Amino acid sequence: MHKIYLDNAASTPLLPEVMEIMMEVLKENYGNPSSIHSHGRHSRTVIEEARKIIANILKVSISEIFFTSCATEANNIIIKKVIESRGVQTIITSGLEHPCVANTISDMTKRHDLKIIFVPNDSDGNLDYGFLENAVKENPKSLVSIMYVNNEIGNINDIGKIGEICKANGALFHSDAVQALGKIELDLSKIYVSYLSASAHKFHGPKGAGFFYMNSDCIIDPLILGGAQERNMRAGTENIAGIFATAKALELSVKNMSENQSQILIVRNYFKQRLKEELADIQFNGNQDIAINHILNVSFPPSPKADLLMFNLDINGISASSGSACSSGIPKDSKVMEGIGHDKERKAIRFSFSHNTTLEEIDYTIDILKKISPTQ
Ligand code: PLP
Repeated sequence: MHKIYLDNAASTPLLPEVMEIMMEVLKENYGNPSSIHSHGRHSRTVIEEARKIIANILKVSISEIFFTSCATEANNIIIKKVIESRGVQTIITSGLEHPCVANTISDMTKRHDLKIIFVPNDSDGNLDYGFLENAVKENPKSLVSIMYVNNEIGNINDIGKIGEICKANGALFHSDAVQALGKIELDLSKIYVSYLSASAHKFHGPKGAGFFYMNSDCIIDPLILGGAQERNMRAGTENIAGIFATAKALELSVKNMSENQSQILIVRNYFKQRLKEELADIQFNGNQDIAINHILNVSFPPSPKADLLMFNLDINGISASSGSACSSGIPKDSKVMEGIGHDKERKAIRFSFSHNTTLEEIDYTIDILKKISPTQ
């Protein structure tokens, strides 16, 4: 049976070159990077080389990159410590953020006297930037937390514009860039952000490795205390192989970006075209004009068969992601789907591609969808 992976927004396969590099570091660099002997210094060099690669790609200073175990950790560190160490009184965010941002903000509002303002969005997930600007102007000492690319519907938010608004009004700006890195250009010498997070396994690096950028004018206190690793910002012996693999995976993704993205766009357009022509009552969620190439969120019409779509895709060897769940017979959309007012009777499925996805795989997926979808 075919095994088709259309869930690249959830995680991506490790690039073979990255795996090789990782194995070598695991084997060779066993010295503790905090040790001052040659084995330790050798490991330290690997970490600093990785930091330099990432800093060069983002066009920032090497002292502004901090390695973590994942983007969830990076977002927790940033949000919690920006609030606690920079006197933030207001958080301006959207209702479409990833749970690791949304739940951290919600938890912080229970522990601190914080005002929280949600930037409204329309049914395509477009944010109201005028509202955001007014909110920033009316609320000094605010932290704006808006993701670069939405992980469920793929909308690319205008972080350049948000950065300008924040900079002009003295607000701090955090952006979760997990679904953007390695897929679209990001030049932080041109775009203002105070903090930005990323995760290696979303750009063909390993799981358990991430990092954040912190603008040197926006220093926060550490969340995890212990040794002096990451210049006292994130204690704990470093995941050297993961860190080096992160840098190499990002380097390769950026180097091959235009070729990879062209391939992904061909796949996306072909899939969309065939879905529109061959399946009835299909809708695409999110603003298709600003959607990132690799995420396509498809909404299928209501029917008892719709609830079995994910299950039937899976038993036919196709892995995708559900934007909704059915608990006790009641269909329930994810927060993002709810946030864009998606009809919960319909079934939303996120298909996400990589440069490895082929048109033959799309043909097979369409054949299966024609058999299992509600209107056939
Ligand atoms: N932010 C976004 C937008 C994501 O898509 C994800 C992963 O699904 C995360 C954060 C969490 O990343 P990690 O798996 O590195 O914790």
